[in-house]
Amino acid sequence: MAHDDHHHIENDDNFKNLNVNKGVENVQTVNSAAAQRFLKKKRKLPTVDEFFEGILKGDITLLSQAVTLVESARPDHQLVAQQIIEKCLPHSGKSIRLGITGVPGAGKSTTIEALGMHIIRQGGKLAVLAIDPSSERSKGSILGDKTRMEELAAEANAYIRPSPSAGSLGGVARKTRETIILCEAAGFDTIFIETVGVGQSETAVHSMVDFFLLIMLAGAGDELQGIKRGIMEMADAIAINKADGNNIQRANLAKAEYTNALHLFPPTPSGWIPKVETYSAIENRGVAEVWDMVKEYVDKTNQNNYFGHRRNEQSQYWMFESINEKLKSNFYNNPQIASLTEEYKNKVLSNEISSFSAAQELLDQYFGKINQ
Ligand code: GDP
Repeated sequence: MAHDDHHHIENDDNFKNLNVNKGVENVQTVNSAAAQRFLKKKRKLPTVDEFFEGILKGDITLLSQAVTLVESARPDHQLVAQQIIEKCLPHSGKSIRLGITGVPGAGKSTTIEALGMHIIRQGGKLAVLAIDPSSERSKGSILGDKTRMEELAAEANAYIRPSPSAGSLGGVARKTRETIILCEAAGFDTIFIETVGVGQSETAVHSMVDFFLLIMLAGAGDELQGIKRGIMEMADAIAINKADGNNIQRANLAKAEYTNALHLFPPTPSGWIPKVETYSAIENRGVAEVWDMVKEYVDKTNQNNYFGHRRNEQSQYWMFESINEKLKSNFYNNPQIASLTEEYKNKVLSNEISSFSAAQELLDQYFGKINQ
């Protein structure tokens, strides 16, 4: 008997007396509600071109959605995110990127609000991002707190993005750098990147901004402020906040001290001599001057070509950082290497093998496997 797709045995004359039951519906193997949600979501995800065109037009919803993709750990999201970034890249770069650091309580959010409103009143468009790798521990990011920067948050020309909440410093830094590109393509001409001045995230922020502003308080010793010498050395300016009320004199004294301290550092390759300013974020005094100083720096470093030079250096730095990060996570996430590492750790502890030989053998194993 010929058998093809269209031949149904129950229709064959030989079997015409056969009683054929109506088929039952296939049993659903997936939760249909979940599948519907998934499809709906899937359909809702715009195409790369839709993202790109929306971002270029300054569509905040699409920008936010794209940033969410940048922050997502899902490989399919990452794929789309990378395509969007690549398209946006030629439209990025036209901004002032300002890093802002200072210990908790120094007045970073009050300053960002005051400085941000000043920039917006001058016709600027401001994006505020944060690097806060500790936020996973502190349950939610510092910038996620809705009570902060209320005035700025209500501005159409301000975009405040809470920091990506999870991941290593390297991961968070990469996401922030990519978010900068998307924000710039969306027309934001000023980017603030805030970090809490206590950890190592300053180095990461320093290597993605044009100007690094350190917010300090008068009267509090450096020890108390938890500011490391290295962070002061990175600063293009120290801004002493809370120069108001009966704190003004102390602020001026601190200004003189910090100015002296900065003179002890070697000259910067930018040709810029780091400045110290006093201001009051809460009374909005001296805030405009802080911004004028940043603009002065931008003008000066544009003239001597340091501005572009530094950005190029940063791009290269991040290329190598990405390689380092990838190599490291690849090595440590390899299950075979993980169990071998355990073995070697014990061998090192029992003095069977030196730390260096153990490392060498582990690396040999790793690269040997990869090159097979
Ligand atoms: P952050 O933790 O660095 O973001 O600091 P905040 O901006 O939240 O400020 C910490 C505290 O200092 C808040 O109670 C602010 O009201 C206060 N503060 C901020 N700026 C000033 C200022 O210029 N003068 C005075 N007197 N207080 C300020």
